[in-house]
Amino acid sequence: MAHPTNKNQHHSATTPQHVAGDFVMYELRVYNDVDYSSVQQGGKLLKLEVLGTVQDGGVPHMGCSCDLCESAREDCQNQMYVGALMVKECGEEKSVRYLIDATPDIRHQVGGETVDGVFVSHGHLGHIAGLPFFGTEAMDTDDLSVYCTPQMRDYIMNNDPFRLLNDKGQIQLHETDEGESVDMMSGSIEFREVVHRYVNTDTVSFMIEGSERTVYYLSDIDEWTSEALENVREADVAIVDGTFYSRDEIDRYDEVPHPCIKETMEVTEDFDTDIRFIHLNHTNPALREESDERAEIRDRGYDVVERGMEIEL
Ligand SMILES: [Zn+2]
Ligand SMILES: [Zn+2]
Ligand SMILES: [Zn+2]
Repeated sequence: MAHPTNKNQHHSATTPQHVAGDFVMYELRVYNDVDYSSVQQGGKLLKLEVLGTVQDGGVPHMGCSCDLCESAREDCQNQMYVGALMVKECGEEKSVRYLIDATPDIRHQVGGETVDGVFVSHGHLGHIAGLPFFGTEAMDTDDLSVYCTPQMRDYIMNNDPFRLLNDKGQIQLHETDEGESVDMMSGSIEFREVVHRYVNTDTVSFMIEGSERTVYYLSDIDEWTSEALENVREADVAIVDGTFYSRDEIDRYDEVPHPCIKETMEVTEDFDTDIRFIHLNHTNPALREESDERAEIRDRGYDVVERGMEIEL
């Protein structure tokens, strides 16, 4: 099958069709088990799966001996993978899988099947460090499509080991500008630029549009801007930066600013969008299922994503 083509799409803001809040699937289904009869009957084709929940450094976090990190060292079941999504599409003749962000946990996240393309949000550890696993020592892909901004393309072309992937034909770079979208069989993924600590590259978020609903994915932002809030408002479901619950969690907040979950819940209070937090730092108390902070999040109508959670689009 031909890879999706980039096309300029002037996205007019549409009124989201808000559906009663029960559409987020928690089933842990293996994509191989696709029921093709439902596809033929016009069933939903596009689905996304949450592959990880935490900030770039992961859990356990190197150099940390908090109880969460220690429990993840004692039992690998307690490990938490870095935030990433798999967008999956099932057609009658071909099914495809697109990875959003190549994390340091990629070898646990991609599984035994192939990947048809990778979207990279920005050049920080948790979002690009997994790319070399498509290279010689690991998966050794052939012309794997990598969708990224022109700045990210320059970064990859000028830095080993990323450059080698391109030189050896293991990846093929597709420059995608802010506002441009990549078409899939029954949906699209659009690049939306956001403001985030500029190191190596600019940063984008993604508006993932299916035939029935739209999911906005924003892993990292320094602080809420009116554009980013509009993106959240436009989507039916938004999976957003939940790095910290409050600013006093770490002593170098000013170096690595992110809107705290508390503040996000305040600024989005009157939104109809179903908002879920991702990219939680190991210090974030909301990572603990039984915490007061998690309860507060749920009481206010928000939630934290879980690995394996699926959303039909
Ligand atoms: Zn990050
Ligand atoms: Zn820790
Ligand atoms: Zn970042």
